[in-house]
Amino acid sequence: MRKQIAAANWKMNKTLSEGKQLLNDILTSIPSLSDHQEVLFSVPFPYLIQANEIVAGKKNIHIAAQNCHHKTSGAFTGEVSVDMLTSIGVAHCIVGHSERREYFAESNAMLADKVNLCLSASITPIFCCGEPLSIREQGSQNNFVEVQLNESLFHLNAEDLKKVVIAYEPIWAIGTGKTASSEQAQEMHAHIRAVIASKYGNDLANDVSVLYGGSVKASNAKEIFSQPDVDGGLVGGASLIADEFLAVIKALK
Ligand code: PEP
Repeated sequence: MRKQIAAANWKMNKTLSEGKQLLNDILTSIPSLSDHQEVLFSVPFPYLIQANEIVAGKKNIHIAAQNCHHKTSGAFTGEVSVDMLTSIGVAHCIVGHSERREYFAESNAMLADKVNLCLSASITPIFCCGEPLSIREQGSQNNFVEVQLNESLFHLNAEDLKKVVIAYEPIWAIGTGKTASSEQAQEMHAHIRAVIASKYGNDLANDVSVLYGGSVKASNAKEIFSQPDVDGGLVGGASLIADEFLAVIKALK
């Protein structure tokens, strides 16, 4: 059975003490996770080491980075490499969040490099894809997402693709309070799975976790996650409030 995942994305929020408090508040009340369930906390770079210590030994709870650089090392002031992440025991990394694509001009080709580097460093990439509002309004979202997958993931062999977690995040639903309806989410997730199946076969398509992201919160997580092709969520705003994120975790299948 593919993994059902609740992934928090703190973005550029919380001081160290606020972040520790939030993490501890969640861990104090977190339900015990089944083998097929996983909880990730994508915290800012400066907190990765301490956050990792806090979750150490807790079943299926991991710390993730929010980004990594697309080169292995060198003169890239301010950047963080996959080897640095591995060296501090971080084994998950968000790749291609729409905010990085928009504000830091990350292209599909650059994201293919990041995915490759993550996999070579045994880091699970949480690969984000999703269309802007203008594309949704034209009805071209399926093709738009397919191109993102094609250009950043479909060079991988089956063994490697299986290690990737995909997060479908319609940009118009991120941080806007607008959520895709559960039908819209299911439709895109089924499309993503069908595209994977056409290239890699049904078995692999059924093994890849596809998360939904875009204003997931306590009040809508259960319905969205109940869709057959939705395997949990990547959660921004609601992951900054302990009770909200706990409810999202409890909504996992
Ligand atoms: C995100 O940051 O990936 C996200 C989906 O944010 P929000 O939940 O706030 O829409």
